[in-house]
Amino acid sequence: MIKVTNLNKSYGNLEVIKDITTTIEKGEVITIIGPSGTGKSTFLRCLNLLENPTSGEIEFEGKILTDKRTNINEVRRKMGMVFQNFNLFANMSVLDNLCVGQTKLLRIPRAEAEKNARELLQTVGLSEKADAYPDELSGGQRQRVAIARCLSMRPDIMLFDEPTSALDPTMVGEVTTVIKRLAQNGMTMAIVTHEMEFAKNVSTRIIYMDEGGIYEEGSPQIIFNSPKREKTRAFINRVKSFRYETDSKDFDFIELTNNLLNFCNANALSKANLNKAGLLSEELTVNLIPKEDLRSINFGFPDNQESFELSVTYGGEKRDVMQVEDFSVDIIKGIADSIIYKCESDTNELYFKWAQ
Ligand code: ADP
Ligand code: MG
Repeated sequence: MIKVTNLNKSYGNLEVIKDITTTIEKGEVITIIGPSGTGKSTFLRCLNLLENPTSGEIEFEGKILTDKRTNINEVRRKMGMVFQNFNLFANMSVLDNLCVGQTKLLRIPRAEAEKNARELLQTVGLSEKADAYPDELSGGQRQRVAIARCLSMRPDIMLFDEPTSALDPTMVGEVTTVIKRLAQNGMTMAIVTHEMEFAKNVSTRIIYMDEGGIYEEGSPQIIFNSPKREKTRAFINRVKSFRYETDSKDFDFIELTNNLLNFCNANALSKANLNKAGLLSEELTVNLIPKEDLRSINFGFPDNQESFELSVTYGGEKRDVMQVEDFSVDIIKGIADSIIYKCESDTNELYFKWAQ
């Protein structure tokens, strides 16, 4: 469907895209991952010529886009793009947002456009919001409308640039679910995302970009479980970490639990491991370590979620709180595969690890 050959893009002296050659076949779902500033957005924007490549060739459904004679507007309609910030028309109802492109650009009669729009709203789960205005919707709902509007133009491929990164963590799921459903229905897609669990589940192929080029690409299986090259490995295994610090008196258990939960949700931690981390934290902070002694809780795991480490530090007398007879101790031993106690400069430290 798309063939990219020796694509380069520079802004002045800054080379952002360096010699990318790749193809996207019909039905493929490609996610593009990598550190920020490596040109992922620029690459996506070059594909539909929102940015003009400095050199190289892009072919889409047999047409050379980089050729001046190609009608770019016509081509762009077949490549839907969904951005981070929704870009809905604020002064139009949801229904009108979904009809305007159909009637103005595709010249579909209003009645038919409305019928299509209502069907699309159903596919993104927002039938009852047809008459609402964008500012009456949550971020997740707005992004689902943006996806429906994009679909209303009947694109052959959809490009997503970090569709969930402007969203509150609790709303990421509703948007990724809609995108997964499109994938199941055979939509060809290229998606730039930081949601690793989503990338793992939705993609037929993952492109890892680094410093303006395709550094490694492969199946989710390969990229997540056995990446061949060093930077990919480092990126995939980078640890997500959470830290909560307290100075004895105003330790707020509810706040800690809530922050930990938000962190877990934002990083798409599986339910089972979220429960383990929550339970461990609770047993330690509520039952085993006196409130006034607690100093910090740390929790971290790599993107591939194959191992987890939770640690606590606490003051007071030098002691390992796991060495007492207590039901909480048994619960923790049932979760952690390894438990290490250390005492350094009058601070007690306990490390708990478990594997997937
Ligand atoms: P990513 O999406 O991977 O975070 P981008 O494609 O947004 O990366 O940006 C890659 C690089 O190009 C960055 O260094 C960015 O500052 C630069 N860049 C992006 N757009 C422009 C622009 N319009 N003018 C100048 N530099 C830009
Ligand atoms: Mg970007």
